[in-house]
Amino acid sequence: MTPSDTAMNPYWSDVVRGLTPYVPGEQPKLANLVKLNTNENPYGPSPRAIAAIRDALDDKQCDNLRLYPDPNAERLKAAIAGLHGLETSQVFVGNGSDEVLAHVFLGLLKHARPVLFPDITYSFYPVYCGLYDIAFETMALSDDFSLRVADYTRPNGGIIFPNPNAPTGRLLPLADIEQLLQSNRDSVVVIDEAYIDFGGESAIPLIARYPNLLVVQTLSKSRALAGLRVGFALGHAGLIEALERIKNSFNSYPLDRLAIAGAVASFEDPAHFDSSCKAVIATRERLVHAMRALGFDVIPSAANFVFARHPAHDAEKSTLALRQRGIIVRHFKLPRIEQYLRITIGTDAECETLVTALREILAG
Ligand SMILES: *Cc1c(COP(=O)(O)O)cnc(C)c1O
Repeated sequence: MTPSDTAMNPYWSDVVRGLTPYVPGEQPKLANLVKLNTNENPYGPSPRAIAAIRDALDDKQCDNLRLYPDPNAERLKAAIAGLHGLETSQVFVGNGSDEVLAHVFLGLLKHARPVLFPDITYSFYPVYCGLYDIAFETMALSDDFSLRVADYTRPNGGIIFPNPNAPTGRLLPLADIEQLLQSNRDSVVVIDEAYIDFGGESAIPLIARYPNLLVVQTLSKSRALAGLRVGFALGHAGLIEALERIKNSFNSYPLDRLAIAGAVASFEDPAHFDSSCKAVIATRERLVHAMRALGFDVIPSAANFVFARHPAHDAEKSTLALRQRGIIVRHFKLPRIEQYLRITIGTDAECETLVTALREILAG
């Protein structure tokens, strides 16, 4: 079937015909690759999370897989609320933060006025707008990829961006976020904190004072549980109620028993979390230094990846040359960033392999 045959498929709804789906980074089948393309954490989840998932599989327990999970994942909400001094009514949990974000777009950002986000940002946002028919406007980042809060004072139906931003890694100071919240009291401001644990300051403490703030986080990056699919949102109970209404109109059980057990246990192991975040940050600083020494322009990163370009080497060619050496990085063929590589922070050994390969490639 050619693509045009697909588009003509008479069984498709008009909605499907109009979609432009998100394309996730590749999950290659080959072993022994240095995989630095989807911002996974090289250190793996807490051993306690793995043990809890094993326990949840145990048939001798009454809460085995025969039974549906708790539709409200109360245990997980309580663990997250306790960590941040919030009530469980201020916590929403979902099947990865991508699902949480989808509900946010439909439940809190679909209004007559357009939702605003940066021109360079998480490329899933415009996809949700397409899926739910939501008007949006993109605001251009500065040349150095910093976000200017003054751009976000025009009338809008909501504001969303990651902090630190993706794929740039650049962090917006909390004072700027507070300014945004103050100048947009009539719309919801969503801060997607997928990478906040790698050196940023979370906006969660602002929730007490701003009923228009929603903070979204994930266990996929800093807690190394991308395969478990757990994300959450924190905010005023009124905002959370909107997300619950969407969730209970879509899928009552987004988190299965294994995900709830593993996620709860992950929050009970702060030592593993702290040490793996610290290790990623230390490796990032070494990698940034090494790449600058090779002549790369590296955007200051507060995330578990770096975003960099070389003034004399084409990014697409470098991506292919790395691939031939078994190293996978992410390259976005998008306006303003087509000369950048986005490189996940791996182990020290993986980053050394990368730097050695880059040195060879640049030497031509
Ligand atoms: C990785 C990522 C997500 C999605 O995380 P999941 O919880 O794995 O769905 C959301 N937002 C941003 C900016 C991300 O980079």
